[in-house]
Amino acid sequence: MTDKRKIVVIGLDGAVWSLLKPKMDKGYMPNLKRLADGGATGNLESIYPPETPAAWPSFMTGKNPGKVGAFDFLVYDPVTKTEHPVSAKRRKGTTLWKYLTDAGKTSLVLNVPTTYPVEPIQGAMISDFLTPEDARDYAHPVELVEELEAKYGHYPLFFKTMSFVAANSERNCEAFLDECEWMDKTKFEVAEELFDRYDPDFTMIHIWGTDRLQHELWNLFDPEHPRYDAKIAAKYGERIEAYYTMLDDCMGRLIDKAGEDCISFVISDHGFGPTHFFIDLNSWLLREGFIVLKDSLRVKVKKFLWDLGWSPLNVTNLLQPLFKFAALFKTPSPHATIRKATGALAIPGMLDLNKDVDWERTKAYAPFGWSGIYINTRDIRPHGSVDPADYDAIRDDIVKRWDAVVNPYTGEKVGGPVHTNDTMYHGEFAQYGPDVMPLPLENKHMPVCFFGFTSKDPVYKNSTLFGNHVMDGILCAHGKGIEPGAYQDAILYDIAPTVLHLLGLPVPDDMDGKVIEGILTEEERAKGPVKTTHHEEAATSGSADALTAEEEAELRDKLKGLGYL
Ligand SMILES: [Zn+2]
Repeated sequence: MTDKRKIVVIGLDGAVWSLLKPKMDKGYMPNLKRLADGGATGNLESIYPPETPAAWPSFMTGKNPGKVGAFDFLVYDPVTKTEHPVSAKRRKGTTLWKYLTDAGKTSLVLNVPTTYPVEPIQGAMISDFLTPEDARDYAHPVELVEELEAKYGHYPLFFKTMSFVAANSERNCEAFLDECEWMDKTKFEVAEELFDRYDPDFTMIHIWGTDRLQHELWNLFDPEHPRYDAKIAAKYGERIEAYYTMLDDCMGRLIDKAGEDCISFVISDHGFGPTHFFIDLNSWLLREGFIVLKDSLRVKVKKFLWDLGWSPLNVTNLLQPLFKFAALFKTPSPHATIRKATGALAIPGMLDLNKDVDWERTKAYAPFGWSGIYINTRDIRPHGSVDPADYDAIRDDIVKRWDAVVNPYTGEKVGGPVHTNDTMYHGEFAQYGPDVMPLPLENKHMPVCFFGFTSKDPVYKNSTLFGNHVMDGILCAHGKGIEPGAYQDAILYDIAPTVLHLLGLPVPDDMDGKVIEGILTEEERAKGPVKTTHHEEAATSGSADALTAEEEAELRDKLKGLGYL
């Protein structure tokens, strides 16, 4: 019965119904409308934090981040007490496509974040934007690399235009949209070609442009955004809609190619919403006394200057007029270039989380990216000093004080849900994840730790990223076996067990996800209950087979340039 069945999963990074539904209703996305109207829909809840490098590993393993060990762009290695960029070697857990390969199924896995180094699956794989820039082995089989580059010049794993500048000027917006369109169109073109070649049972493609575009240009399609620019919005509004129509057209073609026995999923790893304000977690923790600075003259001078306004935020704001021309300076590695440029200006005299903090007296900090607040527990954190007996009291104190944070611009509480480690994670790596995670973005505020201590005032007006991630992504399933009109919410890690079940395979019992039975037809459910199989991951191997130090350094550069570190 399931022999001819094909599964196609299209992962639109950061796609959200609030943005897509109006496009579907206005006729900009006829294929998605057809799939949604004739299939099952719902919200697909992300994991904590709702961030790409934590979310896709959870998706592909069917597990919560406490079992996968990836909470942000950096992964903590408890053996060496060091942090490393997330990669296929640094996350834990057997992937969906490994199970499919073991069952003799053919897969096509394209551009899913954290798939470098690529796995030798049955079928083909191309890695993602977290690949070292000079890697010549980003595809399996490896001959594909040469073939792709002969045809396309370069395969679009990376953005070449600078981040955070797209909405600054017409020139930047134009260059950014050019690249989004070319990148995602090319990825779909390659997907179609490889589909014909491999005739895969399972196809997965990840589209990055949706996430980048929503980060950089949300202010252009949201007149209520404080940074709404009517002139640029009028000029590029239709073109932004056309980008989504292009994606819709590509999705329709790929799904049609898979034939009438295809079950398609259009999903996202998290949703999206407008950001009006940033909240610098470390500045807040410093103000509240959870971070203590070193007692040296050098650090006191730095703090004095910082109090006067010598901060990354003010330097970035001063540079804003220059960023209007950023699209002119395309380089092979724009992210490293912008990091070096801002780094050179920002470093002298600025407070630094790594160098200026007294770790012996610091109780909690926000280490990297956007993942939340970490309690500086002895034996767990790299510079840990807090007695585990004090953990609960410190955690509860942070949660209580966060509830009192007021935005000075609005006079209102920042609000939003606050989660703690014990309610977010379970598994081998749970204790290495964040301990307190405020998610005020559901309320237009975004917690950040870009440069350590970005701004003296923890709450500040956003001038770079106009939209960011929220918990609810999208779920749309369609095809024979899917109940038309069904509405069912699910969690991102439910997709892997659902795919296995639909292909007639048992679900490993160490997956956290459950088969989304609410979207299945009665006929499909009558085929029998979900089968399970016992599975245990091999013991943690530590850092032996990770990327080289050089590759990791280059990835750190890239992540810093994208604002992730
Ligand atoms: Zn994003």
